[in-house]
Amino acid sequence: MIKCTLCPHRCSIEDGQSGFCGVRVNRNDMIVSTNHFRFSAIALDPVEKKPFYHFHPGKMILSLGSTGCNLACSFCQNSEISKEFGNVRTFSLSVDEIIEQAMLLKDEGNIGIAFTYNEPVVWYDTVMEIAKECKNNGLETAMVTNGYIEQEPLKELMPFIDAWNIDLKAFSDEFYRTIVRGSLKPVLDTIRTTASESHVEITTLVIPGLNDADEEMDKEASFIASVDENIPLHISRFFPRYHLQNILPTPVSTLDSLRRTASRHLKNVYIGNV
Ligand code: SF4
Repeated sequence: MIKCTLCPHRCSIEDGQSGFCGVRVNRNDMIVSTNHFRFSAIALDPVEKKPFYHFHPGKMILSLGSTGCNLACSFCQNSEISKEFGNVRTFSLSVDEIIEQAMLLKDEGNIGIAFTYNEPVVWYDTVMEIAKECKNNGLETAMVTNGYIEQEPLKELMPFIDAWNIDLKAFSDEFYRTIVRGSLKPVLDTIRTTASESHVEITTLVIPGLNDADEEMDKEASFIASVDENIPLHISRFFPRYHLQNILPTPVSTLDSLRRTASRHLKNVYIGNV
């Protein structure tokens, strides 16, 4: 039995078994990542697609994804690489090959590398290695993450990450426990810690009936403002996915109302995915 201390699940993993994320395995009392330098996607994306609106606007970023996730959102928007990735075809790239591609793409407006598509916390060692090499080559780095990570590994990674988009899924511990199988406080801690040193933007996917109350958004925006009122908040529209097929897309009028509520506390609030 070995304990993984990378994220707040702190899984105790039997020999030959994997943790909650499905990609960190106990092999002879050592934790091994089955997705180490195995990627599910690579693409040159506009930074706005991550979304970042206040970090090199108008530029591109080479985006990498792998497999696995340490939450289990019933509304997962990319379950084929996050939760049901057994049949996903992955490919291998070395750190040198990735850096070479990123440098070549500078001519097309590339600023660096984004760790995205699935949850990058669960390929932490790969992210760390690539991010360090980015810094050696003058490339920017960005994490698009659920923020569900313990403080110690977070602080070790922070010197090598320039920008964070953190998914704040709701402002309710009950939502975190029942809908995504995590907890709220570690995510709030990640926001506070990263914002103290790095560029941070926050995304909240609004699901009708689950996290669309004005009072909840008021509390969320008030918390973000207590960290920094300049942090951009992206309020994103839900579409039916994965286990939540029976809920209709978020009405745009709901997003407008929540944007007005959040704007009472925050200077930069945007609606996305419409
Ligand atoms: S990273 Fe994976 S194995 Fe480690 S504690 Fe989190 S869910 Fe468990």
